[in-house]
Amino acid sequence: MIGHSSPVADLHFYVDVDDVLAETTRALARLAQERFGKRVRFSEMNVFDLSVSLGLGEEEFPEFMAAAHEREFLLGLAPVSGGARTLVRWREAGAKISVVTGRPPDSRPATLAWLERQGIPFDRLDFVDKYARYSDPKMTTPQQLLDQGYHTIIEDADATALYWAQNTDARVLLYDRPWNQASEAEAHGAIRVHDWAEICEFADPPS
Ligand SMILES: [Mg+2]
Repeated sequence: MIGHSSPVADLHFYVDVDDVLAETTRALARLAQERFGKRVRFSEMNVFDLSVSLGLGEEEFPEFMAAAHEREFLLGLAPVSGGARTLVRWREAGAKISVVTGRPPDSRPATLAWLERQGIPFDRLDFVDKYARYSDPKMTTPQQLLDQGYHTIIEDADATALYWAQNTDARVLLYDRPWNQASEAEAHGAIRVHDWAEICEFADPPS
């Protein structure tokens, strides 16, 4: 920890990547259409499980997920408007930024390249087994991040937002997406936000 006297330096932000900083699921819907012939509207993707929301069969899903983590796919993701600009401002104010993703760890090089290309600054980049997907004992678990002392958490995955709302004092902001409309996290104090302008209303460091 750097010993700034300003309280802003004590603020630690947790920022998810997919569907908070990157328009990932819109791109996944296009991928499912182009490669698998699935025609699903983004607004109709009202469950978190992509195999369900995109109607991908058991035999298609592994191939789809592999395509979804290809370097070119990840590098081509559009940024969510206002995200990079806000994180630059927060970090210049002295806050600490943790980018926390549930992507597989082998997508780290492509994720780093994307963050750099988008001009997104951060102090940590954590690959976390948010959904208990990988059963890899070497992977970071959410429990291992409990001592990070996050001040604000920005997530779109309702189960993940719920975990932080229940287990920390952090302010939890739930990024409004079709798959989190029925939210348990909200019932436990998470605040629904619709864009980065609204995130700033709740999370801007004191100036
Ligand atoms: Mg996400």
